Amino acid sequence: MSNAPKDFGLLVRAKREECGESQRAFGKRVSLSQAMICRIEAGDVSGLSKERLIDIATTLGIDRTLAEKAKTHSARVLAYCGTAGCPVNLPYILRFRELAFRPQMFEHDASEVQRCGFCGEKLQTQCAGCGAAPVRGKARCPTCGQAYVQCDVDIQEIYKKDFQFLIESLRAHYKDATEGL
Ligand SMILES: [Zn+2]
Ligand SMILES: [Zn+2]
Repeated sequence: MSNAPKDFGLLVRAKREECGESQRAFGKRVSLSQAMICRIEAGDVSGLSKERLIDIATTLGIDRTLAEKAKTHSARVLAYCGTAGCPVNLPYILRFRELAFRPQMFEHDASEVQRCGFCGEKLQTQCAGCGAAPVRGKARCPTCGQAYVQCDVDIQEIYKKDFQFLIESLRAHYKDATEGL
């Protein structure tokens, strides 16, 4: 794993201090908040475009390719919405016995917190059971076997009810024919 975002952050800090500027003062110069400068210096370049980073680099006399590298090597993570029944997650029947949801996986910067576009819940970047990183296309965590999105609907109950309904419908349908029997 490259440390390009961290290296870039350290360089920004060093150059800014060379200029004798506070994070706030430098932020003003590049139209960013003090908090944002603080994040950049800590190696978090999420939420900033490559162009914006290059802007910062050139303002401080830093080689622009370092800004490009920082953006390219910023760590990415997979994330999913943990809400059962959220439309982003697909209902998924496991061996006719269990209902789960196969979550849609989204990718974002490791340092970012993102919310589900449908239900607004914070996206999960870990299996709730064991903390392993999620795997694309799976309903269950390959490490611990727990479903990423748990579902408390009892599928056996549904099968039972449907079968009952079928029997009752057939009885009603043949009622006349069997009345006299
Ligand atoms: Zn959701
Ligand atoms: Zn797990």
